[in-house]
Amino acid sequence: MAKKQFKAESKKLLDLMINSIYTHKEIFMRELISNASDALDKLYYQSLQSGDTGIKRSDFVIEIAADKDARTLTIRDNGIGMTAADMESNLGTIARSGSLAFKEEQQKEAMDDEAAKAKKATDIIGQFGVGFYSAFMVADEVTVTSRAYGSEEANVWESKGADGYTVSPAEMASNGTEIVLHLKENVEGEDYDKYLEEYTIRSLIKKYSDYIRYPIQMMVTKSRPKADAPEPEEDKAPEMESYQELETLNTMEPIWKRQKSKVKDEDYNEYYKSKFGDYMDPCKVIRTSVEGVSSYTALLFIPSHVPFDYYTKDYEKGLQLYSSGVMIMDKCKELLPDYFNFVKGLVDSQDLSLNISRETLQQDRQLRNIARNLEKKIKSELVKFMKDDREGYEKFFENFGRQMKYGLYDDFGMHKDVLADLMLFYSSTEKKLISLDEYLAKMGEEQKCIYYAAGETVEKIDMLPQTEAARAKGYEILYMTDEIDEFVVKMIRDYKDKEFKSVSDEDMSEAQTDEEKEAMKKAEDENKDLLAFIRETLGTGISDVTLSARLKDSPCCLSSKGGISLEMEKTLNKMPTEENVRAEKVLEMNPDHPVMKKLQETFARGEDGKELTAVYARLLYDQALLISGLSIEDPARLGDDICSVITR
Ligand code: ADP
Repeated sequence: MAKKQFKAESKKLLDLMINSIYTHKEIFMRELISNASDALDKLYYQSLQSGDTGIKRSDFVIEIAADKDARTLTIRDNGIGMTAADMESNLGTIARSGSLAFKEEQQKEAMDDEAAKAKKATDIIGQFGVGFYSAFMVADEVTVTSRAYGSEEANVWESKGADGYTVSPAEMASNGTEIVLHLKENVEGEDYDKYLEEYTIRSLIKKYSDYIRYPIQMMVTKSRPKADAPEPEEDKAPEMESYQELETLNTMEPIWKRQKSKVKDEDYNEYYKSKFGDYMDPCKVIRTSVEGVSSYTALLFIPSHVPFDYYTKDYEKGLQLYSSGVMIMDKCKELLPDYFNFVKGLVDSQDLSLNISRETLQQDRQLRNIARNLEKKIKSELVKFMKDDREGYEKFFENFGRQMKYGLYDDFGMHKDVLADLMLFYSSTEKKLISLDEYLAKMGEEQKCIYYAAGETVEKIDMLPQTEAARAKGYEILYMTDEIDEFVVKMIRDYKDKEFKSVSDEDMSEAQTDEEKEAMKKAEDENKDLLAFIRETLGTGISDVTLSARLKDSPCCLSSKGGISLEMEKTLNKMPTEENVRAEKVLEMNPDHPVMKKLQETFARGEDGKELTAVYARLLYDQALLISGLSIEDPARLGDDICSVITR
């Protein structure tokens, strides 16, 4: 039998497992039992789908057996089983979708000290949900015998670790999988024998797998008074004998059916980690029960970090669906809107039929009802989260805020009522993230709009001349540093009847008093010829040149007219489309700035001054482009202009 090699990445992970510095080796038990439970679930769905009546849930069982002499621990299930090909693809390769993340981790490998190495290994192991390979943390040899449901043949997969594995035909009486772990020899500081002790096995099952809804059974040794022994004398203990009995080690009670007061936070966290393959506790647990037209219990979790495949097409949203405690679907996507696609968890309802199918789901009224209620519940919990634990919420928002922003933008802003309350933006005055409600609460009577400025970073926006006037008036400005932000506010337009207004928008007239407007009009009249000359000099790049009241210390700035802002121009042009999108740019000049005076003087010299006025105009335009983060149209000419000013 030729030995086969593990796929390269799998081999690396296997090495990690074998030489594991991972401190929680005991979780191999949780992983193998969870796989067994999944195999039973799969067989059960399959029977539901195919109408196979030969399958009885009541026959399903997971068995554990320890053999101290042989130093083996066996975990057996009568689930769906595996064919030889399944074994190849499931046990020879590591978590398919995870391989990419694994590679990335490896590339970032500049790890020098041991602690960092250990941390990294833990993270990697965690990312994969650990899985089957965790067996190699405690075993030096693993044998998997399996027979797929409906097949006559059985096979055995054997491996002693990194040097490869074999698959060969075997005997097995009926469908299911048996995993035999040959435990490693004890070494200093690491006792593997304990996994053969009834006490350890019992407590691991209690700790990690108590809620598993199939019985986990083990032959245990018990003792009782000897049946045919003579009556013991007074004060003497009766003569005892030991006997073997099959015992179910788990209560099988789903965690969401237990009394709330009896479930600790850790229990929810452990449950989440084992069922949803995360290595970190969730940042929020939501448990809710509703009685009514549709009665259900939901147990929802919000991960505390972004899942490694979240932004890949492999990521599937959805909640597990249970009908009276029996899982009928793994990822029911109808239960979650896209903008809450990061929520994990389950819904259990007695009102759902056991053989609901993917096709009938969408029409199911009960399900739609539940989905609507869940959306409300998630929203209200998030609002509470924002209020009660701001730091925690900010972290959450950093992880999943972008997804909710896409939700705001989608469907023409239809989900504004749900999502706008959940947004956070950086405030120019508070110097931290604030919500839109917090913005409105501080807004003075005379302020008509919600002002914002878009740019790459807080620091860059701070330097934008456009913000000077709004700042001088004491207005708070929301900084939009996410590319999607400005698209979102343009889509939703207002919040609680207050319009969003960019400080870079050409028309900022509502921020001015009537006197200010009057004065500006007069100044524009006086400088009419100069402004027209500058516009002509700059050509097609610019659609207008105006005087501006918004500037205080800067000579000029760029703003935009119409639907596309300067930031949007940048974002849209990063996308791979043919068309070059352009904002309608306006160069705004500060009438009170010394630079303006200089321009007026030069221009007043008539023909003599024209060339130099043109050079000044181009220089001002180029620096305004640079400050706004846009690129200069003709860098060579900028060079010439600078030289001509220096050599004058
Ligand atoms: P995961 O469970 O996260 O998919 P694992 O490494 O734990 O990853 O398992 C890999 C695959 O091997 C499983 O998805 C399943 O298809 C198969 N498998 C593991 N254990 C069993 C089992 N007891 N019965 C049937 N199939 C199993």
